[in-house]
This record gives sequence, C-alpha cells and structure tokens, in this order.
Amino acid sequence: MTIAAWPASERAWERTKGSLAGGVSTGLRASMKPHPIFVEGGAGPRLTDLDGNSYLDYVLGWGPVILGHGHPGLTAAVSAQLPLGATYGTGHLLEAEVAEKVLDRIPGMERVLWSNTGTEATQVALRLARGVTGRRRFIKFGGHYHGWSDPMLVGYRPGADGTLGLGSQGQNPSALEDLVLVEWGDLDAVAEALKAPDSDIAAIFCEPVLCNSGVIEPPEGFLAGLRELCDATGTVLVFDEVITGFRIDRGGAVTRYGVTPDLVTLAKAIAGGYPLAAIAGRASILERTTQGIVHAGTYNGNPVVLAAAGATLDALDEPGVYDAFERQGRALADGIRAGFARHGLAVTVNQVGPVVQCIAGVADARTFTDFIGADQEFYDRLTVQLLRRGVFTLPGGRWYLSTAHTDADVAHTVQVLDDALAATLAEGP
Ligand code: PMP
Repeated sequence: MTIAAWPASERAWERTKGSLAGGVSTGLRASMKPHPIFVEGGAGPRLTDLDGNSYLDYVLGWGPVILGHGHPGLTAAVSAQLPLGATYGTGHLLEAEVAEKVLDRIPGMERVLWSNTGTEATQVALRLARGVTGRRRFIKFGGHYHGWSDPMLVGYRPGADGTLGLGSQGQNPSALEDLVLVEWGDLDAVAEALKAPDSDIAAIFCEPVLCNSGVIEPPEGFLAGLRELCDATGTVLVFDEVITGFRIDRGGAVTRYGVTPDLVTLAKAIAGGYPLAAIAGRASILERTTQGIVHAGTYNGNPVVLAAAGATLDALDEPGVYDAFERQGRALADGIRAGFARHGLAVTVNQVGPVVQCIAGVADARTFTDFIGADQEFYDRLTVQLLRRGVFTLPGGRWYLSTAHTDADVAHTVQVLDDALAATLAEGP
C-alpha cells in the first residue's frame, strides 16, 4: 500500500506558514519533497506523521538521533535530570563526567569546551586557532560544511555564477579574504598554500570524511599529510567531526584513521538529538579560553543536554554497536547499488559506518565535482516514492542509520527501494 496524499501535513504546513518563516525551522527542511511531513512522534527507527503514517526514519533529525527515537536509557537520563532544574550558570559535575567520556574516546584530546551547536563549535575553533597562532586566514576544502556562520559558510556549494564563494545573501564578504579554498585530497595544494610568503594561515579545517558532499573518504595518507604540514608550519589542524564523531568509530575519524588533530569539533550524535556541541583539543589551546580568548554561552554545559550526552555515549559503548553500523551500512549501500543496477541506472554509493551516500546518475563519483553532478531531479522524485512507501530519507542522497535499525529494517528498505525506483522511472521526468 502506498501513501497517496498527506492531508494533515498539508493543513499543518498551511497553518505553520502563517507564523513561521517557511513553515518549518530551517530552509532545508522547507525544501523536502513533496513538502515537509509533520511529525506526531517517533519510536525506535520509526516516525509517525499527523496523517497516521509510519516511516522507517533514515533522516534521524539530520543525523543526531543515533539511538533512534525515545531510546529508554536516554529518556530515563533526561527524565531524571528534569526535576533538578534546567540550567545553573555555574559548575556542576555532569560537565566533567561527560567531558571525561569524550576524552576517553578520542585519543590525544586533553580538554573539552561545551557549546550548543556545530556552528558555534567551529567558530570557537577558528577563534582559538587565530588566538594561538596570531594569524588570520584558514584553509578549507571545497564542499566541506562547517556551519552557517559568516566566516565558515564559504566554498560549500557553487553559486549562481558556478563559483565556490559566499554561501548566503547578507553574509560579510570579508569571509572570502580569510579563506584559502583547496580541493579535498590535494595535499600539494595545501603545502603550496602554506608556503606562500604572506599566507597568514592559522588553521586547516576539514570534515575528515567529506560527509556533507558525497561521503568521500580522505585519500590514503592525506590526513597524516595534513598533520605533518601543520606540525611543520605551526598551523592548527581542526577535524570537524560534527557528523563523524562517535558515529564512524567510537573515537570518530581520529580512531578510524589514526590521525590526531589539535582540535575536534563535535555535535549531532554526541547527545542523541539534544542540542549539544563540543570542542575537544589540546590543553595548551583550550586553556587559552581562561587567558583572553572568549568562549561564551548562557546554555553552555546545560545539565539536561549533558545528561542526554552521557546516556548516549554509554549506549554507544554497548557491545557490537559499531560492527552493526558497518554491517547495516554495507547492506544498505549494496542494496542501493543493486537496485539502481537492476533498473539500468548509473549510481555511486559511498558508505562509512552508518553513513551512506547515494549519488544518482553518476557511475564513478570520486570528487566533490562529481557529487555536484548528481541527478538531483531524479533523486528528489525517488525520495517522494520512498516516502509514499514508508521510508523517510534526506534530500541530497545521504542516509543515516541508528542503533534502533535492525538488519530486517534494512532488508525491507532495500525491497521498498526497488519498487520506488520502478515507480520513479514509470512516472517519468
Ligand atoms: N559541521 C558539520 C560537518 C556539519 O555537518 C554541521 C551540520 N550539518 C555543522 C558543522 C553545523 O552544525 P549545526 O547544524 O549543529 O550548527
């Protein structure tokens, strides 16, 4: 049985557009096809919408809901904290208890700063890098996303003129002066940029796996090469692990690839869906926040959110979690590949742990440019056909798995995908 229409979600959207710009809380959510569905609640790997439809959820809140919805341990930890108050504005031990869990998982990290969103965490990381080096500019890679702040929202997607520049109207154009944009994987270009006489480069930022633009792994030796170049030039190496942290391995990319940066930014999975971010790093850098580098925030170290984080990190330590992520990630990726092949469609499917990326219409996508060439029109229509069949996916081709997804859920999804592909082809462009 397929879902023909979403009358309650449509009514809800009409209503919310009267009070919320765009009717939902981010522009990207407003772009979901055929329109955003409005959620009644979630349980495990499933969401239920206002029309009473149930979906297997591969959106997972755009990544954070790594334990699935309403995880009992997470819910119990948050519920136990709630009667004790919302926030204190001074020290409490949960701040350190959860920081210790972070330091235990990510080798080489000595201190943690708590923030609220990934966007804040990357801004703090940039300020720290500038503060400790006395330099101004930074290297980032094309297609890497480090939040929506003025300095960081650059070089992410091609603009109307096809170039990788500013990401938003209203953004301070000086962001471009501070940016040195390099192609992901091009170590020679990084070395060149650092060598230039007035390069003035404080930091190299990267998503250690380029999750936001194709789930493209670093070429062999590339992260180690960045580490060496940073050591040689006194440049701060920042891994933005907002997606990869605690997800692609217990210690994220740091343990998966065995390279230790100076700073790691964390968010999303760390608190299972609650708004928490962190900057972990070397003490000599993070301690500078007590000596003139400002890191502020009313909600930093919020106890409810930290209770969620403690329970999430504990749950991710259950035996077999990362093996299951890898197994299910592979099964999903293989299933998507096989489905496209059966229908004679070109595709590239990349997968790292529980993160899977479908690049429709491109047979051997290896670079950010290849990823940008995906057949988005076809993929958008496919997501609608999946939704009609009870599978909720992100626009843009990324799929997330949670600990609540079972092997049977993935097998079912692969079958549904086959029908959805047939329906997408049958309806035509
Ligand atoms: N860095 C990366 C790698 C991200 O994927 C994101 C969010 N998608 C951010 C930073 C920004 O995080 P937030 O949305 O919590 O501000």
